[in-house]
Formats: sequence, C-alpha cells, structure tokens
Amino acid sequence: MIRQPIVSVLGHVDSGKTTLLDYIRGSLIAEKEPGRITQSIGATEVPIEVIRKVCGSLIKKLALKITIPGLLFIDTPGHAAFISLRKRGSLLSDIAILVVDFNAGIQEQTKEVINILKTYKIPFIIALNKIDSISNWKSNKKSFLENYLYQNPNSKETLQSKIYELMRDFSFYNIDVDRFDEIQDFTKKVAIIPISAKTGEGVPELLMVLTGLAQQYLKDNLEVKNTFGRAAVVEINEIKGFGPSLDIILYDGVIHKNDKIVFQSDNKINITEIKAILKAEPLKDLRSEKKFKTVHEIYPACGAKLVVKNTDGIHAGMTIIAINSLEQIDSALEEFEGFKTEISLSDHGVIIKADSVGGLEALAKIFKENNIPVKKAGVGLINKKDVIEAETENENFRLVFGFNTRLTETAQKLIEHKNVKVFISKVIYELIDKYEKWKEEIEKEKIKNVLSSISRPVKFVLLPDHIFRNSNPAVIGIEVLGGILTSNIQVINHKGEIIGKVLAIQKDNSSVKTAKKGEEVAVSIQGAVIGRNIKGNDILYSNIKSHDYKILKQYEKQLTDDDLSTLAEIVEIKNKSDPRWMFK
Ligand code: GDP
Repeated sequence: MIRQPIVSVLGHVDSGKTTLLDYIRGSLIAEKEPGRITQSIGATEVPIEVIRKVCGSLIKKLALKITIPGLLFIDTPGHAAFISLRKRGSLLSDIAILVVDFNAGIQEQTKEVINILKTYKIPFIIALNKIDSISNWKSNKKSFLENYLYQNPNSKETLQSKIYELMRDFSFYNIDVDRFDEIQDFTKKVAIIPISAKTGEGVPELLMVLTGLAQQYLKDNLEVKNTFGRAAVVEINEIKGFGPSLDIILYDGVIHKNDKIVFQSDNKINITEIKAILKAEPLKDLRSEKKFKTVHEIYPACGAKLVVKNTDGIHAGMTIIAINSLEQIDSALEEFEGFKTEISLSDHGVIIKADSVGGLEALAKIFKENNIPVKKAGVGLINKKDVIEAETENENFRLVFGFNTRLTETAQKLIEHKNVKVFISKVIYELIDKYEKWKEEIEKEKIKNVLSSISRPVKFVLLPDHIFRNSNPAVIGIEVLGGILTSNIQVINHKGEIIGKVLAIQKDNSSVKTAKKGEEVAVSIQGAVIGRNIKGNDILYSNIKSHDYKILKQYEKQLTDDDLSTLAEIVEIKNKSDPRWMFK
C-alpha cells in the first residue's frame, strides 16, 4: 500500500504560506467535494480525485499516471513545525513547497529553509507567489499556462526576469531552478511554479507538479510497511469532556482504538493507553468549527487526535508507536534505537539548546556542517547550569546558542556577571553568522594582544633642536619615520648596537602609548647619553629579537606595508651585525 506524501509549506514570513494553504483547502471545498476533504487535525488530506478535478485537462495533457492516493498537507506552515516533526532518521515531511514572494525574492527565512532542505535532502518545488501583483497581469483562468498565453509582453518579461533572478540566486546554493514547463528532468532541476495564492492562479500546476514529483521520486518512502502505527506528535492538548489528548500525524502502520502507545522519554520507555481516536468531521466551510467523530482505527497518512490516559513525558515532535500486545514492546524498543538523536558531542565545544528535539537535531547537524564543535545539547530554556558549564570551557567556546528558545530569568541575571556569550535566534543560519562574527572579533582581539606584547618594528630620527635632557634617561624629541613606536622597547642604531630602552612617550606634555609614522613626540631612553652613544639626526630602530620576529612573520597579514618595510630594514641591520641573531 502506498500512502500520501506528507507536504510542508515553507517560506519567509508573509510570503503567503497561510493564504496558499487556505486556498488549497477552500478551493477544494468549492470543487463541491466537501465530503471528501478532511481538515483533519494538524494536517489536510487531499484525495487524488480532487487533485484530478482541480488539475483537469493538465493531467490528461501530460498523460500522468497517478498512483498515490493523494497529498497530506501539514497545517502549520513554516520551518519550526517542519523541523520539529520527525520520523525515523529524517523529517516527517516527504516533500516541500517553498513559497517565495514575487516582490521580495529570497529573504532570510527562505535562505534558512533552502539550507535545511539541502541538509535533509528533502525534494521541493518553488511556488513563486503573488504574480497577480505584476502590472497588467490578467488572471482569468485558474491555469497559469492558459493565462500566460494572453499576457502582454511586458508582463511576461517581468515574470521571466524574476525567474532569471531566482536562477542566479539559487545557483549560490548549487541548485538549478527553472520554470516548471521548461524542465525535462525533474531530478536535475527544481521547478518554479508561478502562482497567486490569492486568486488561485497556478495552483492546478502546483498540485500537478507536486503529485508528479512525489510519485516519481518518493515511491519507496511511501510504501506502508509496518503493522504497528507510527506517528509524530504535533501538539499536546486537553479536550473538554475527554481529557488529555495528542494531535498526531500517522505516517506508517495502523492505530487501533485498543492499542497502547509506547514512547521514549528521558531514555526510558513509557506506555500509555488510548481512550479514543478522534477524526475531524468533513469540512463544510473553512469557518465552520471543527467537529470530531470517534473512529475505531486510522490509516496512514492522516492527522488525528488520540485521547490518552496521560501525556506526561510526551513532547511535540516526538514519535509514538502503537502496539496491541505487550510482546510487541521489544520490537518497539528496537525501533526506538533507530530514533536516537544523531547528535555527536565533542569534549570541548559550545552549548546548544532548542525548543524541540527536531530543532535541536537540525541545529546540531548544521553546526557540524559548519565545523562548530558542540559539547552539550539539550531541549528547553537556557538555564543557570548551561551558563555555568559554558564558563568552564576554554575561551574559544564560552558560548551558548538557543534556537527558538530563551534564557531563564536566573540565567539572564547570571550572564551579566559571567564571561559567557549567549546567542538566540529563530533562524539557525543567523546563529552560525553570529558565531562567525564573534570568532572574527575574538581573533582580532587575540592578534591585537599578541602584537601589543612584542616589540614592533619602528624607525625614528632624533631631532637635534629638541634635546631636553642628556642622560639618565635621555629625553629627546623624535619623528617616527616608519612602523609604530611603543614604550618598553630596546632600541639599536644603524650598526645594530644597543642604545637603550624607551621608557615613555609624550606628546603635547601628556604621555601616550604609541606614535605612528609622521608623528613628532618626546621619548625618554634609559641608557642613551647624548653626545656619547647618540646625537641629533641619528636614526634609531627597535631591536627585534628572534622570538618577536617569528611572531611578526606569523601575523604578517596584519602588518602594513610600512611595518613590513621597516622590519626588512631592521632585519638587514641585524643580519650585518650578527648573522646568528635569528637563532638566539
Ligand atoms: P505567511 O506569513 O507566509 O503565512 O503569509 P500570509 O499567507 O499570511 O500572507 C501575507 C500577506 O500577503 C497577506 O496580506 C496576504 O493577503 C498577502 N498575500 C498572500 N498571497 C498573496 C497573493 O498571491 N497575492 C497578493 N497580492 N497578496 C498575497
């Protein structure tokens, strides 16, 4: 038996995901098939007869032989539900519609979704939405292709240039995209279907491409193999008069009313009883209140409500398995082995937290792809313990990342006094960006510290008319000719002889830490005696020792051309006076 593919609608906020889902549900009702459309719980089932009717002649034209029983749309659009709902080793969604706003193009969350789709290798199509906003666009028919014939050249041009823009933008992700009717091989290119979720234009083509793609490329995944029901928990509720309940999407096997539910929580296997299975009454119109009817069993794929004895330890996104005898518990156990989260932890690394197991796994997977080691991963709020643990890490990893979660109040107070950084976002890639930026900053800071702890190359001339004191220490005006002057450095003359140590630098009667090329400052040099080892117009250099030289070479990229040429001059002087200086 083949079940319906499970479809997710994804895209940036306001791209039109909800409008599209509503249109699909609404139009199907309008197709006078109310008894056949079920706005079940958590998902909308669209039987194949309805798709046939909506797509009409398109299917006949393409001679598409349909074998899947329909499509099941997850009702909660967006990537939070998408990544939190899972089935063994993967995401619950078999296929996705990525909605892109015609006027806005690829936006922040679109990028996130593209990356997640790639990471999980989920096939998808692109709904280029809001084509009704193209100027002079005529939307007489529901079929995009039929309408397209009658559009004026300018409108066609506007659409085509947007498609070229998407081709370019998607190529950055190594994804080839094209308008669906230009594609020969759907395994090589991702289809763009221009639509208007508002008028419904293009929706027949959207459903048709989705159906064709799903049955061609998902066949093996859609085979219902098991007898026990396996379902993903969408939400945990309480129904008046019934008690605690679970909204689930059944994706494999059958759930019977007398089955028990097995689930894994905190590494323990728990069991609860099903008290009733509820399905939604067929939808008559979108505004009608959902009514439920009890049923004896449910078949995949569908959404339903399970009234259960208790929901302790059950979380959204979790998988549950239905069994009908206790002997079956062993197989369920074995199966849970396959559900184990695939988060690999390192001895040293950052801490990650997310609001759901699915979110956490996606976060871990993407952190791994980006070579960011993770020491600890957990579901829930970022708490005091996370902050304290992060603080024990080495300076590269004193970080906590939260995806779709927040800090507890105590943790919030704690970070004000701790050397720990916390990054929170609803977009995983934003967390990666924040990490990269932070790393860059830290790296810069480190380089700055290293460079400030060593002697930097500098060359300066003693100004003959500015001798303030002859010795102990000598105080004299100088002009920096190259490099950067810092205090506490030893200085040499052009023969490589040591003159003394720069104790302090003053500019306009106040002390400064550094002086750059072209600056005139007064310096005090311990060891220098005017008239004995120095005189006006002499040029002095910093004495770069081999240890400092090696560090300067290591950070060569951070040095300016002026630094480098001053360094080269000093090296020449040192080589002449002592060819073995580099090995000392
Ligand atoms: P979501 O956040 O992705 O679920 O976006 P919504 O479905 O809530 O739509 C966001 C806004 O875009 C709403 O004001 C919609 O009316 C509008 N919208 C959605 N689809 C279309 C469309 O096809 N054409 C036009 N012109 N507006 C649309």
